[in-house]
Amino acid sequence: MMALIRGLYLLEFHGFIEVNMTKSNNKLALVIGGSRGIGRAIVLRLAQEGFDIWLTCRSNIEAAKEVQAEVEKIGRECAISVFDIADHKAVKAALEKQVDERVPDAVVYNAGITKDNLFVFMTKDEWDSVLHTNLDGFYHVMHTVIFSMLREKRGRIVIVSSTSGEIGQAGQVNYSASKAGLIGAAKALAREVARKNIWVNVVAPGVIDTEMTKDLPKDKILPMIPMQRYGTADEVASIVAFLCAEKHMYIHGQVIGVNGGLAI
Ligand code: NDP
Repeated sequence: MMALIRGLYLLEFHGFIEVNMTKSNNKLALVIGGSRGIGRAIVLRLAQEGFDIWLTCRSNIEAAKEVQAEVEKIGRECAISVFDIADHKAVKAALEKQVDERVPDAVVYNAGITKDNLFVFMTKDEWDSVLHTNLDGFYHVMHTVIFSMLREKRGRIVIVSSTSGEIGQAGQVNYSASKAGLIGAAKALAREVARKNIWVNVVAPGVIDTEMTKDLPKDKILPMIPMQRYGTADEVASIVAFLCAEKHMYIHGQVIGVNGGLAI
């Protein structure tokens, strides 16, 4: 039987949000940035694979609650935490105690932002905000959860990078730097934690049909993609779910492109 261990949490930086988390025997997936787009698809796919879900977002509580309702319809539990991954104190306040009590079996670091501009015009704020969110956020989140995972001697970590981090993209010097940084960080971490039964991999999506890409000039982008279409969030989610759930895994420290051939 499940014992109720979570009730109401005060997330002082964003007000109250109800987080119901019971200690069930299901595996638990922590999905950072699970309220919309690719993260939402990852959450739903992992719930279908049998994971309880702990999803996080920055501010879009309504969207997060819609995802939560969908997870519960699938028959899994779903907790929500709201914080800015760029804020180290906020990340620790939201995650540290809880991961110690119920250690996630899988952690998907998916949240990320763009602030595109040609480098010559790029402001310091555009540079800083993308690096602080996408790359510093990795330290804030993973450093908070890794100790518990090491103690348990098990786990899967999937980092969502980008094709831009592999091959660079004009107008995205800040974003490409942050996403390339994630690849380096994930590979180094993979070397450190493999002996503790923790597998770390990176998924690098190309152009995926989400809010992040809705204003891009599709007519200019499609000719660059051999498959001649944007990817779907579900197509990214299926690879993430494979890396989180596959029993017979000998994939570690790898970057898996989901890009329709954009980077070959
Ligand atoms: P969306 O903008 O649709 O969703 C972003 C998610 O991240 C939301 O859950 C959002 O929360 C959360 N988030 C954003 N900033 C923060 C923050 N500072 N702190 C906490 N949570 C935050 O993005 P996508 O689904 O398109 O992208 C998901 C990931 O995939 C990103 O890392 C992105 O870089 C990467 N990617 C996307 C591609 C694409 O074509 N879409 C291509 C390659 C990589 P909230 O809802 O509260 O804002």
